[in-house]
Amino acid sequence: MAELIVGIDLGTTNSEIAIVENGQARVLTEDGDPILPSVVGLSEDGRLLVGRAARNQWVLAPDRTVKSIKRKMGQDVKVQLGADQFTPQEISAMILRTLKARAERELGTPVVKAVITVPAYFNDSQRQATREAGALAGLEVVRILNEPTAAALTYNPAAGGEVPADGAAPAAPPAEHILVYDLGGGTFDVSIVHTEGGVVEVLASHGDTQLGGDDFDELLLDAVADEFQEMYEVDLRENRVARARLLRAVEEAKKRLSDHAFTRIEEEFIAEKDGVPLHLSTEVDRADYEALIRPLIDRTMECVQHALDDAKLTAAQIDQVVLVGGSTRTPLIGRLLEERLGQPAHREVNPDLCVALGAAIQGAIIAGQNVGSVLVDITPHSLGIKCLEYSDELAFRPNEYKFAPIIRRNTPLPASRSEVFCTVMDNQPTVEIDVYQGEGDDVRRNHRVGRFMIEGLARVAAGNQLVVQLDLTLDGILKVSAREKSTGLVKQITIENALARYAVAERAGAQARLNRMWADLESLLPGGAGPDGGPGGDPADPGAVGLPAQGGGLISAVPPSVPTLDPGPREGQRESVQARALLEKADRVRAKATAEDQDELDRLAGRVRDALTDRRWGDLQAACNELSDVLFYLEDA
Ligand code: AMP
Repeated sequence: MAELIVGIDLGTTNSEIAIVENGQARVLTEDGDPILPSVVGLSEDGRLLVGRAARNQWVLAPDRTVKSIKRKMGQDVKVQLGADQFTPQEISAMILRTLKARAERELGTPVVKAVITVPAYFNDSQRQATREAGALAGLEVVRILNEPTAAALTYNPAAGGEVPADGAAPAAPPAEHILVYDLGGGTFDVSIVHTEGGVVEVLASHGDTQLGGDDFDELLLDAVADEFQEMYEVDLRENRVARARLLRAVEEAKKRLSDHAFTRIEEEFIAEKDGVPLHLSTEVDRADYEALIRPLIDRTMECVQHALDDAKLTAAQIDQVVLVGGSTRTPLIGRLLEERLGQPAHREVNPDLCVALGAAIQGAIIAGQNVGSVLVDITPHSLGIKCLEYSDELAFRPNEYKFAPIIRRNTPLPASRSEVFCTVMDNQPTVEIDVYQGEGDDVRRNHRVGRFMIEGLARVAAGNQLVVQLDLTLDGILKVSAREKSTGLVKQITIENALARYAVAERAGAQARLNRMWADLESLLPGGAGPDGGPGGDPADPGAVGLPAQGGGLISAVPPSVPTLDPGPREGQRESVQARALLEKADRVRAKATAEDQDELDRLAGRVRDALTDRRWGDLQAACNELSDVLFYLEDA
């Protein structure tokens, strides 16, 4: 059996230990938890606490607790812990010992050798201090590995020069440039790693040692505390316990916002005023939260550019983008990186565990073990719904076939994600939720996996918010729910085989259908040769042109939080959408009307079409009102 060399990610906020077993890397857990908070403390009765217990007491007993010791590695300083003083190496050794013990308990064998990771920017004395910490913990540190190199190895074990598991001669992996974006709790790094012929090298590294998810928490805490202060004239930041509770609550809320479009923060009895208890209850919107943290994320994007410049590479020369660190679960980061680098980032491997897994892979390679790629269950396709899209080019007629992904491709399973969408018509009573899988921006290129209607919505102006949530299990069972935010009205369906790939032939068919539809659509646009906007086919067919016939002339919703979509209606948008729906309804009613009524309908529909074509919004409204009155009468007749 090959020698055991464990991999350790000794992080500023959290640490992990991993091994390679039967060619597969895995992180070792304790009570199911793979993460050990990098916090060391002494309990009230003088017992050593490492990990979660120490972290839990930090706010209330900072004099007996040490966190973020990694920031002091390599410095000639001591930290106070209770009555004694310790070097940073000694504190780090306590964390390493705890991890070593965790591994020995789970594996039932002594653990002696380890690969330990450090940031690429660590200098010699910081690296030396890390080695010393390992030695103090009873570990032989066989290699100090750069964190971005470890992350790159997790996604490309072959880059480390391993022998394939089938024992065949190793195929030379292609040379690659991998950009590793690492945003943790307190630090940010971006590195460009070059891999070639088993040599992995960091070409450039930039970062900010004082930027991370903790700063996002502080910004959100300030926003919530300001709101509370405005309401009750009590500053939650002034009371230590209230502040600590709020900090925890906002961090949890921040994490929920990574998966859901909004969340509530509820803390009962958080303060008191004139003897009256005060409760905190507020809602946070992802869009507002993203606006709050945007300046910080922009700073990280500047570092990305610096790293590219230093490596003398353009964005197009980056072969893969890898996300590391818990804060990279923030969707805004993935979106901005994709915009800048022109490719989606890898997010298959848990970003908290990626570095530890890579360290274990490096350990296994040193020990001469075979290593396969890290296996994770992911969704191979994006899943989302059909909605309307407005844009400058489409001001006259919205794109009715916009695909709004909710769970993106390569998301680890199980996954639960939600987005908010809005109705676009006043008093819109129903909305159709049309669920697709695929990567096309247009749903007609994708595969429909199910659909349903939510009916009985509140009679309110356009902009009624619906929360669409997708829950996908490991077995490919997809639960889709739509909830009217203001009333809680909910409708949901379960789709059994949402992960089934659709056949190549079907995809080719979809493409052909799409090409046909585009040709049809062109003829429908103003100046086109075809009829003016009538329904062009079977509404059940995703290839149908025209507004789908949904119950009472309904249309899909618009997600305000999808960046490619416009935040609000433009001039004439709503009118033209309403007019299209009315025209469609007129066509349906016309089929059953008398000849005389048909003439009247044709006259009024003609007026609506003319006003639409000429973009006379005032006239359009008047014509629509008339048509609507006649339709009302004819429908009832
Ligand atoms: P790390 O230092 O890599 O362990 O990252 C820890 C940071 O990631 C903390 O600031 C966490 O609040 C943050 N984090 C963890 N999970 C999430 C999430 N789902 N969304 C946003 N931030 C997260």
